[in-house]
Amino acid sequence: MSAKDIKIKTLLGYVKLYNLNLQVMFVSIEVNRYKCGYCGACVGVCPAGALELVETWIEVDETCSSCGRCAKICPVGAIMVIR
Ligand code: SF4
Ligand code: SF4
Repeated sequence: MSAKDIKIKTLLGYVKLYNLNLQVMFVSIEVNRYKCGYCGACVGVCPAGALELVETWIEVDETCSSCGRCAKICPVGAIMVIR
């Protein structure tokens, strides 16, 4: 392995670590898919438009501000806010 190979490997390591940090920052709510009844109520109240009902799954994007409105309206308590 040359010195160049080692540098490239190290760079990939940083990129991987950076992606991991970004992903952790974006996680702001957790939806329990076993409890969720896919009623869509949470999607309607999100002020950021961060939620989307995709077939039988709720997806959250990075615009979520952890305000908690979705968790309050959910009739089955399927959403947990992570602050
Ligand atoms: S916590 Fe607030 S901003 Fe985030 S998904 Fe729920 S309603 Fe939207
Ligand atoms: S309000 Fe609750 S049950 Fe309804 S779609 Fe959202 S997470 Fe699922």
